[in-house]
Amino acid sequence: MSFEENIRKVVPYTPGEQPQRKVIKLNTNECPYPPSEKVTRALREFDTELLRKYPDPECSGLVGAIADYYKVGKEKVFVGVGSDDVLSMCFLTFFAGKKPVLFPDITYSFYDVWANVYGIPFETIALDEDFNIRAEDYKKENGGIVIANPNAPTGVEEPLSKIEEIISSSPDSIVIVDEAYADFGENTAISLVDKYKNLVVTRTMSKSRALAGMRIGYAFADERLIKYLNDVKFSVNSYTMNMPSLIAGREAILDDEYFKEIRDKVVATREWTKAELKKLGFSFRDSKTNFIFATHESEQAERIYEVLKEKDVYVRYFNKPRLSDYLRISIGTDEEMKELVSLLKNILKR
Ligand code: PMP
Repeated sequence: MSFEENIRKVVPYTPGEQPQRKVIKLNTNECPYPPSEKVTRALREFDTELLRKYPDPECSGLVGAIADYYKVGKEKVFVGVGSDDVLSMCFLTFFAGKKPVLFPDITYSFYDVWANVYGIPFETIALDEDFNIRAEDYKKENGGIVIANPNAPTGVEEPLSKIEEIISSSPDSIVIVDEAYADFGENTAISLVDKYKNLVVTRTMSKSRALAGMRIGYAFADERLIKYLNDVKFSVNSYTMNMPSLIAGREAILDDEYFKEIRDKVVATREWTKAELKKLGFSFRDSKTNFIFATHESEQAERIYEVLKEKDVYVRYFNKPRLSDYLRISIGTDEEMKELVSLLKNILKR
């Protein structure tokens, strides 16, 4: 068929399974708690008559709330349909050169997919044996750099000094720091946005603000970069964010008390889970995220994944080089993690 040759053929990203039955779902790093009551109330009160009109293309209400919360000028904020949309727009906007974009060999597996679909040359840089980034490896010619901090699926958080070293040593390219999990960690590069004109920091409401289903992501960068991003966005789709998500995102940002409450609960459950997994013979790098990337001393990760799945407990398994001995386990509620641990005890006969 002659049309075949005109078709763009790509290998897509594989998202985690979303079973439509009720299962213990620890495979896509969602928040185990519901969104803020304020979000629920605002959505319930939303006047659906408004839906006949297009939403605000500037997303002013949401942008303003994010800018105020982080004490950043609103001209330095960009929003999108999840950070996947924000990151995809960043790849399309900032990586139009011929030199390779650098990112770690073990990181968010969407980066190479975007690079491929947009025809961006890229090079992966191996993490060290302990899954750490070596800043020196990034001090070479490049068309851009992408670092997830904390990294996924490893859960490892790098110190801000290392991130800053990478940003400052490539002043002629854009450095994206993907902070999808930073709310569960200890540092953020947002404060560096005023200092470095080549920095973009991306964030999401999917994990720490319990809004994965709403699809809300955002980014911070110098005004000039935000302008470039908006120019590309308005060349693809002016109305990316729908009215309910603009409202929900704003309410979620405004309810700081609830955000801190659920984030702290996830962190406490994570620490409990770490101790239990260690007792069962698992080892892992210290996680600063809402998941733990663990390997077992004797049992195969794939078998554990399969047996858990038979029991309706979903964790994430990556059948890829360097990752196939590990399971990525999202942090659920205390009850869910207790159930997981008890099943693991059975599987491992401990
Ligand atoms: N970055 C990283 C490192 C992630 O793990 C994810 C979640 N899959 C995302 C970005 C995208 O999340 P979302 O589109 O839900 O904001």
